[in-house]
Amino acid sequence: MKNEYDVVVIGAGVVGCMVARWLARYQLDILVIEKEADIGMGASSANSAIVHAGYDPVPGTLKAEMNVAANPMWDTLAGELNFGFDRRGDYVVAVNHGELLDLEKLLQQAQKNGVPGMHIITAAEMKHREPNINPDTTGALWAPTGGICDPFQVTIAAAENAIENGATFLLETAFQDFILDSHKIIGIKTNRGDLKCRWVVNAAGIYADEVMHKVGVRPEFKIQARRGEYLILDRADLAINNVLFPVPSEKGKGILVTATLHGNTIVGPNANVLPDKEDHSVSRDGMDELQQGAAKLVPSLNLRSTIALFAGMRAYGNAPSENPKVKYSSDFIIEIPKTVKGLVNLGGIESPGLTAAPAIAQRVVDLMKDAGEKFVERKVWCPIRPSRPHFREMNQEEQIKLVKKDPGYGRIICRCENVTEGEIIAEMHAPIPARTYDAFKRRTWLGTGRCLGGFDMPRVVDIMSKEMNVSPLEITKKGGSSLFLTGITKIQEGG
Ligand SMILES: Cc1cc2nc3c(=O)[nH]c(=O)nc-3n(C[C@H](O)[C@H](O)[C@H](O)COP(=O)(O)OP(=O)(O)OC[C@H]3O[C@@H](n4cnc5c(N)ncnc54)[C@H](O)[C@@H]3O)c2cc1C
Repeated sequence: MKNEYDVVVIGAGVVGCMVARWLARYQLDILVIEKEADIGMGASSANSAIVHAGYDPVPGTLKAEMNVAANPMWDTLAGELNFGFDRRGDYVVAVNHGELLDLEKLLQQAQKNGVPGMHIITAAEMKHREPNINPDTTGALWAPTGGICDPFQVTIAAAENAIENGATFLLETAFQDFILDSHKIIGIKTNRGDLKCRWVVNAAGIYADEVMHKVGVRPEFKIQARRGEYLILDRADLAINNVLFPVPSEKGKGILVTATLHGNTIVGPNANVLPDKEDHSVSRDGMDELQQGAAKLVPSLNLRSTIALFAGMRAYGNAPSENPKVKYSSDFIIEIPKTVKGLVNLGGIESPGLTAAPAIAQRVVDLMKDAGEKFVERKVWCPIRPSRPHFREMNQEEQIKLVKKDPGYGRIICRCENVTEGEIIAEMHAPIPARTYDAFKRRTWLGTGRCLGGFDMPRVVDIMSKEMNVSPLEITKKGGSSLFLTGITKIQEGG
């Protein structure tokens, strides 16, 4: 393993991967380290998947600035990196007269933030655009620049493009401490040994406070885990085609009902601070909260067709806005601290962090330039990340052609989502090879249908075991000790 880099990025969530993609345009040796067995296993794969228009953040905050700067970048980004993105707009739906007045305030906030094209539509218009909407609606705020994406595809596409342009990713590699020479970072300690570097980008999500505290930066800054629970409905049931928010409260944007790029409807998230940053459990109370939230927007939603539950952790920080004119106590931190040389410090990147990721990445480059880093563009830099074939998205002619070329694409492994053996094997040989069941799930969408992997899982384990040349007993769901199988129950004759 090489042990000297110009820049080490801690954390391969959407922010770390986007930063790596942005930096990889320049002649820099970049390493991204990730403590988990795959990239994007934190907040970046457990969120609402909304590319926010930018009306929600408090004007004058970094959250507002980054959100509004990033939103228009998504069309080019999706085109270059080949991930799914649909700018279908979103609605904030009022259900009484008081909430209608709140929409006016939200519209004014949108205008202050510089969000284009927003206006209030009547109740009749809202009912026309979404026939399943609560019949008591009194009107809605329409944000045409809102969109939806597949957040994991975004993360992996950014990472793969960074790799294509020379960056290195190390999984199961945890940052432990900095190595300093006086007040200058000259390297880091990891569970796999020491690494030398000139710059470290702290993109550790929910653990960013613990990273910055290792060099005494912002000792008062604390990240709390604010859990958001979700439920996913079966595609075969009522499908909502729109992104529907309730009127926001002091607790946040509220429980939304939204379409996903994969055609399911999801409901969530609620917002509850938990003592344990790793507690991804879902709760009975949480489900009740989601049910009430869903009923407010779409009373006809049949939650009996729920097929899966999940939870994501927001990195809820206590950083006051740097803007002296703004009273706000939970802003993003995007800075190069004065007290230590070589650290780019990102903290409190909760929502709209997915949306803001490309603007945050650009800001990281700008901050490093201001700090004297000489950025020289690579002679050859490729902004395009080619996507791999997704069988179910192809027409019959394309499918036949693909199967002729590689018969593996003719063998369906996941029946609910039509995922083929060819796709699974392709992911094992991708720039970041999938090595766990969940890694395939995030990349190909297998196991996410009604049977939740009941049919495909044994076959995927078998394919993985053969292709990776390991015993099926070693295959894990998500790395570490998450083994599927505990032992052999019978040995076949001759086996
Ligand atoms: C419930 C919920 C809903 C949301 N909805 C939206 C939305 O609709 N739109 C939107 O724009 N934003 C949304 N967000 C916010 C968005 O998901 C996050 O802002 C974004 O994913 C943060 O990305 P990240 O890379 O900073 O963090 P993460 O994705 O958490 O990545 C941090 C990475 O750092 C790694 N790491 C931590 N410590 C170490 C270490 N010591 N060594 C090595 N690696 C380490 C972690 O394993 C992790 O992979 C939502 C968030 C949540 C939780």
